[in-house]
Amino acid sequence: MTHSTTDILVLGSGIAGLSAALGAARDGASVTLATKATQPEGASTWWAQGGIAVARKAPRQFKEDIHTASSGTSDPEALDVLVQNADAAVRDVLIDTLGVDFDTGGDGASFHYGREAAHSEDRILHVDASTGRHIHEPFLSHLAAHDRVEIRGDTAAIDLLERDGDIHGALLKSGDAVRHHYAGATVLATGGIGALYSRSTNPGGATGDGIAMAHRAGAATADMEFVQFHPTVCVADGDPFLVSEAVRGEGAVLRDANGERFMPAVHEDAELAPRDVVARAVEQAHERTGRVVLDVSSFDFAGTFPDLAAMCAEHGVDPSTGIPVVPAEHFLCGGVDVDTHGRASLGRLYAVGECARTGVHGANRLASTSLLEGLVWGLRAGTDAAGATPTDQEVSLSTTAGSPPSDAALDASVERLQRVMDEHVGLRRTPDGLQRALDALHAVEADVDAWTDPSARRGVHELRSACTAARLIAEAAKANETSVGCHYMERSDSPPAS
Ligand SMILES: Cc1cc2nc3c(=O)[nH]c(=O)nc-3n(C[C@H](O)[C@H](O)[C@H](O)COP(=O)(O)OP(=O)(O)OC[C@H]3O[C@@H](n4cnc5c(N)ncnc54)[C@H](O)[C@@H]3O)c2cc1C
Repeated sequence: MTHSTTDILVLGSGIAGLSAALGAARDGASVTLATKATQPEGASTWWAQGGIAVARKAPRQFKEDIHTASSGTSDPEALDVLVQNADAAVRDVLIDTLGVDFDTGGDGASFHYGREAAHSEDRILHVDASTGRHIHEPFLSHLAAHDRVEIRGDTAAIDLLERDGDIHGALLKSGDAVRHHYAGATVLATGGIGALYSRSTNPGGATGDGIAMAHRAGAATADMEFVQFHPTVCVADGDPFLVSEAVRGEGAVLRDANGERFMPAVHEDAELAPRDVVARAVEQAHERTGRVVLDVSSFDFAGTFPDLAAMCAEHGVDPSTGIPVVPAEHFLCGGVDVDTHGRASLGRLYAVGECARTGVHGANRLASTSLLEGLVWGLRAGTDAAGATPTDQEVSLSTTAGSPPSDAALDASVERLQRVMDEHVGLRRTPDGLQRALDALHAVEADVDAWTDPSARRGVHELRSACTAARLIAEAAKANETSVGCHYMERSDSPPAS
């Protein structure tokens, strides 16, 4: 097998991986950034809509809002790191280095700061409702032109190279070619787990690869039960797109198939209640009446949200008759357990962005804080890792030959996994359902293990990761009997959240 070497290996090209690469390269390290994406749209970052929150002059209030959204479970030390570094990181990287043209207010000079549900201040920098791509594309271009950074697209990491508790790089697969890539430090930035569910806002490759690889290598994960579902995702033509919270912030209301507005009876903040509350109510209204729409008739939808209006047109949705919505998987709060510099529990291993559990989100995430988390932790991890140099010892992985599945068998296993996750590990969970999920997931995992060796096609590796991530979520959910944040145990004797 061929091999290659750099100081730092970053896996993933969303905001977290790009920030880690920038941090390390600025400090003089040579960086290889391998991403399985073939185009920018392969990262959730590109799809981010609402924007990126900053502290402005009220850092304490920002921390309080995040902490409240997490039901009091976010980690105070992580919050300090996020909030103290927020404005400087956004200014340095996004504005001064990349030149992101955030929307300005009426005077055309100062920024326009938006507000979303559960934010008590106007603090969200945005570019219309398509902030992600306006950050992601210049970031990719900037690093593509950087002397010390090499970006390898269409290249998936399939396993970490572990020896004696340290990570020395990863096995990278590009087409049929597999190579050992050695590095002084490896940064996981592989994003979320949307593909574990039949409906998600994430792009298709969100199969939890980084989390699964880290777990296989022996790294700790945490908070895996906290999967956030977005309440308003339009699936009119089977191709889901998110209808931002900002639309409800502007006055849109949710109605069931009978035209009834149901949120005021559920929560005092009605449509602006916490995401998990709205998502469960939408799911229940859907089950009860068969359809839920977002009624945007009270304001000028196309004038206020031109990007979303264009998306509706693209998907054949006429907003004047209500936008049909369902909840869909959106964000994983947990992941590879890391410290305030993104260091995981194994040596020379970092994790940043959505695949990491920094403690910022605890049991639930405040809107528009994950781009910021990826930026801040990415920079910190890259800078911290920059001094690491590769060792000259090689690492070999023991593998047994797998037997490749047919396309039909692979598809059937993906469908089975998603069905199990939808039914038993979704918005509302029960101990019995979680046990059924675990039994089924073990069976799928056993099939997939028998199919897997380095030569297996990418879909097999992705399903293997998805199985591991799904099992970690179901295990964590089963172990936590307390309903808190986005983990909701549906049974009468569920102990109340503290
Ligand atoms: C529709 C939508 C709207 C959102 N809106 C907002 C918002 O307004 N504000 C906000 O803060 N957050 C928002 N979020 C959440 C936020 O976008 C994500 O949490 C964040 O962008 C994650 O960044 P990341 O770098 O960790 O992962 P991603 O951006 O998902 O990038 C992961 C990268 O890893 C690569 N990868 C995966 N597996 C492998 C592998 N095995 N080998 C190599 N590469 C791999 C992928 O190809 C991809 O390039 C939104 C998310 C979605 C989906």
